[in-house]
Amino acid sequence: MSVRRTYYITHPSSRDHDMGPGHPEQPARVSAIEDRLIAAGVLDFLHHRTARPATGDQLAHAHDTLYLDELAAAAPTGDDRLVRLDPDTAMNRHTLTAAAHAAGAIVQAVDLVLGNDGGAAFCNTRPPGHHAERGQAMGFCFYNNVAIGALHALDAHGLDRVAIIDFDVHYGNGTADIVGGDKRILLCSSYQYPLYPLSRPATEAANFSNVMLKAGDGGDAFRAAVTAHWFPALERFAPQLVLFSAGFDAHAEDPLAEMRLVEDDYAWVTREIIRRTAASAAQRVVSTLEGGYDLSALGRAATAHIQALMEPDATF
Ligand SMILES: [Zn+2]
Repeated sequence: MSVRRTYYITHPSSRDHDMGPGHPEQPARVSAIEDRLIAAGVLDFLHHRTARPATGDQLAHAHDTLYLDELAAAAPTGDDRLVRLDPDTAMNRHTLTAAAHAAGAIVQAVDLVLGNDGGAAFCNTRPPGHHAERGQAMGFCFYNNVAIGALHALDAHGLDRVAIIDFDVHYGNGTADIVGGDKRILLCSSYQYPLYPLSRPATEAANFSNVMLKAGDGGDAFRAAVTAHWFPALERFAPQLVLFSAGFDAHAEDPLAEMRLVEDDYAWVTREIIRRTAASAAQRVVSTLEGGYDLSALGRAATAHIQALMEPDATF
């Protein structure tokens, strides 16, 4: 099987962060993806790495140091205790370890694909990150993994242009807060509206390409909007690296939203983005897990996305 070199990065702490019984952002999400990769015969073809934790400096690229200090001070140390930061977002004693490794995984992935071998990477880590703002945890998120990865690529590797593709069904307000106005980053977002976290349509910025969709929209509407808005923006921007904020909660079976994407839509958007940015990004692509709350659909959609990351491009 001829495949693009694709790294698979995870860490045991991703299964230790637990926000309590019945919470949809649950440890089983990591296993749901991994189990499906095994069933599909894909896992053995991935290059496995164990995530290192992000350093304080790497976190501080995207977050206020006061916020990072406050989060550390608030973290519980007892076995059973949860510290609630908002109605949906809580820390147990493993949370900040897991969050540091989720952020570190994307930093490591960026280092790997910007190294001599190129290729792709998927970080099967949690907690997710795209709702975490510069100084605010919210929406199941603590550290903004994708923003930390983008800023690492720019500041540590000296890249000039990085694209972030956020196809999670919820708008990535945290990423927008951190990268808004940064001309080195193009943020392409698709989101259902009305839906958490927005009370009005997302703010526009010169470096944003926003695609607003509605309940009931499926692959046809998604593909048409992405083709009309993201592809021309990406062509103009010519990113040297592509990062996916890969949430799978726009899937038809997801319980937290009402969009109707299916596995093939995730494969399509992944394949098209890689193909259309290949001239500038050389197929260097890193993906980090965001949402996706129906365990079966999450496993299937993430596997379709990862298989598209692995596909060799005959035209390259
Ligand atoms: Zn989401």
